[in-house]
Amino acid sequence: MKAIRLVTPTQPLVDADLDPPPLGASDVEVRIEAAGICRSDVHYRAGTRPVPTLPITPGHEVAGTIAAVGSEVSDRAVGDRVAVHYLMSCGQCDPCRAGLEQFCTTGTMLGLSRDGGYAESVTVPARNAFQIPDSLPIEVAAIMMCSSATSLHALRKGRFVPGESVAVFGCGGLGISAIKIAFALGAVEVHAVDINPEKLAVAEALGAVAVPFDRADSVTADVALELVGLPATMKAAVDSLAVQGRAVAVGITHEPFPLDSFSDLVLREAEVIGSSDHLASEVAELIDMVDRNLIDLSDVVTATVPLEATSINHAMDQLENFEGGIRTVITP
Ligand SMILES: [Zn+2]
Ligand SMILES: [Zn+2]
Repeated sequence: MKAIRLVTPTQPLVDADLDPPPLGASDVEVRIEAAGICRSDVHYRAGTRPVPTLPITPGHEVAGTIAAVGSEVSDRAVGDRVAVHYLMSCGQCDPCRAGLEQFCTTGTMLGLSRDGGYAESVTVPARNAFQIPDSLPIEVAAIMMCSSATSLHALRKGRFVPGESVAVFGCGGLGISAIKIAFALGAVEVHAVDINPEKLAVAEALGAVAVPFDRADSVTADVALELVGLPATMKAAVDSLAVQGRAVAVGITHEPFPLDSFSDLVLREAEVIGSSDHLASEVAELIDMVDRNLIDLSDVVTATVPLEATSINHAMDQLENFEGGIRTVITP
């Protein structure tokens, strides 16, 4: 089967021809119809976030149709339309039992520590394949698996409650999802901060207050989500907090940001919180919200590209340079 592989970090992805993945007794094979290109994938390619196994097929925002089921699978069937939860956890270890499956001691992640969605098909445990409503476009289902679910988790980690205000730093796939989810969950106001005027226009059309990054000091919010992964946006997120506000770090950066513990935290009783991935239960919750028409995430997908290394590398270049649309999805 065709797959696009990361062989050497810092180098472009390459076209490859692989054997179809083996199907275990409790697995399903998903014929991939949509795979989102996420900023994390750009970090893997750039070498700024280490990849444990190389070469690897990236891609953790995956949706498609079940093409085969393992001998022990009874609750999924060939032909089911599914979206794939990217964290494969054991369900048995202490973190899993505590509902902290992102910290599973033997967990793996699609497109990082096992081959992912930049391919024609992928094999995953059946319980990671979530059935999606017929009305949900397949490329939107794909981006919900990282962009939207991770935003929902970040709002939860920020202990967002209806009636509060939210600031979203970075209006890419996660940010636009976060704006929609925040409104759906009862935000009174959402500030959208970015450097890209086109992304700000999308955010504004969704009802957010669009704020160019150089005017970020005008923003005040109860919950601030940092979705970019830069020290400057991390600092701006903290600076934006209201009394008892919570800044949630989601973006990937290894660089420290300045924090005045007294003025930034003590005087406002503010908090800085980390948020990693999301839970399978949040994937199910999000699909349910879409099914009940509480949220429409179709604006998040702004471009599609074929399963072909040149097009995919170009889309990743744009993401790396903070250019291009909101989210690009590979449609094999
Ligand atoms: Zn992602
Ligand atoms: Zn576990």
